[in-house]
Amino acid sequence: MRDNTALHAACLQSDDGVVALLTVTPEQWREKFGWGDAKADFVLRNMRSLAESLESLNIPVRVIEQPTFDGLDEAIVELMRDAKCDALFFNREYEHYEQQRDESVSATVSEAGYSIQAKTDQTIYAPASVRTKQDKVYTVFTPFKKRFWERWKEGDRPECHPSPKRQPKLDLESDRLPTSIDGFDDPDLDGTWPAGEDHALSRLDSFITDRLADYDEQRDIPSVNGTSTLSPYLACGVVSARQCMHAALDANQNKINSGKTGAVTWMEEIIWREFYKSILVGFPRVSRGRAFKAETEAIRWKDDDDAFEAWCEGRTGYPIVDAAMRQLNSIGWMHNRLRMVSAMFLTKDLFLDWRRGEAYFARKLVDFDLGSNNGGWQWSASTGTDAQPYFRVFNPTSQSERFDPEGDFIREWVPELQGLSKKQIHAPFEKLDADRFSELDYPEPIVDHSEAREHAIQAFKDLK
Ligand SMILES: Cc1cc2nc3c(=O)[nH]c(=O)nc-3n(C[C@H](O)[C@H](O)[C@H](O)COP(=O)(O)OP(=O)(O)OC[C@H]3O[C@@H](n4cnc5c(N)ncnc54)[C@H](O)[C@@H]3O)c2cc1C
Repeated sequence: MRDNTALHAACLQSDDGVVALLTVTPEQWREKFGWGDAKADFVLRNMRSLAESLESLNIPVRVIEQPTFDGLDEAIVELMRDAKCDALFFNREYEHYEQQRDESVSATVSEAGYSIQAKTDQTIYAPASVRTKQDKVYTVFTPFKKRFWERWKEGDRPECHPSPKRQPKLDLESDRLPTSIDGFDDPDLDGTWPAGEDHALSRLDSFITDRLADYDEQRDIPSVNGTSTLSPYLACGVVSARQCMHAALDANQNKINSGKTGAVTWMEEIIWREFYKSILVGFPRVSRGRAFKAETEAIRWKDDDDAFEAWCEGRTGYPIVDAAMRQLNSIGWMHNRLRMVSAMFLTKDLFLDWRRGEAYFARKLVDFDLGSNNGGWQWSASTGTDAQPYFRVFNPTSQSERFDPEGDFIREWVPELQGLSKKQIHAPFEKLDADRFSELDYPEPIVDHSEAREHAIQAFKDLK
């Protein structure tokens, strides 16, 4: 709320008061967005916290609750009439359905005679506005990042907005938000992912103070709390990319390429997020289930439901993959290194369609964000923009030895393997004799990595 572009503009431009509008569209979230319990619950809890903050500023909160976006434009006009509003301010969203909604709401609201202001808020620069010299959307990250920083150095530095001021009191009651949402269960994640801006800002603050400097060294070790874990708050708009970028720059004496290497690397991650949103806008087919590299649409992925289920449930016989999937299923979040490992395993070792993995992540992640999720999946599947080349297939066992050398992360999430040594834990089926392995109640590997790797590489070669 403190750094919200549309809210800031509305408060600044209105003399008579501001009304906030929140929309709750459960069927849309479930059927069209593919959200699961963790995301829906997190959004709702944050809406509740936001509503409280708004009311404390004399901003009444109106709620439109309906199954989908259908008819939302009319409902908004009706609400504006009822609340005697004369202008609509909103922050743009960039996914397929959200863009359609924003267009239809803008058309209907302006036909009804109201003014509209659509703002850039989700990203530092409007997606697809960081462009090549030929005025094209970048498809490779490094030059995108270079241009991003050039723009910054040229003085185009979006600042955080000041907190909105208390508004004149309106004679209007707030609506109540629902306490639960149709079709979603309570995932019981309040303790793991507390809601609210105060919490998000203190998470940002403690990361910057305690962990930013070492981010470079710690960020790939899943057993260590080395990353910010801000992704749910960024994805949901509780904290802004501007706030993150400015906090890191302040901690790094405004240095972009020098100073603390941890700060430089972390800012780069914020720019990855910008990059994937830019891809979403420049190449909208990726948000409609299409591969960025059109030729990879010809790949005949396997159709093995048992293997898919084993992957989803963390029963592949590859401990690092299983630990990662169980982390996801349990807390709605997975460490970035392991998102790459588990996505690569699904697409290259099991040779299953990346879209199945993408949808599963969407349903489980509390931080689900279509641009970053799609970008991450297509990177791993080698179907995306600036993706991992198809011949560089991660070996899950080597990844495990490298990034979880003591096996601590595996022990945390795969209790069956708790008693194993660091030599045994990465590949128990290989390292233990048959009797000892059978005592573990842990599956044999469901696929042979070397054979699977050959198969995947050949399938990509055959495309040429
Ligand atoms: C297959 C796959 C799926 C992914 N799905 C999502 C998703 O749905 N939502 C999501 O926010 N991120 C996704 N990511 C990116 C990344 O894994 C998470 O953003 C990160 O793990 C979040 O943890 P953090 O907040 O501690 O990140 P930090 O390391 O602290 O990074 C700070 C912020 O930068 C952004 N960021 C970091 N890495 C990336 C990246 N590779 N791409 C884009 N933005 C990044 C995130 O907003 C993150 O919160 C995915 C990556 C892969 C490989």
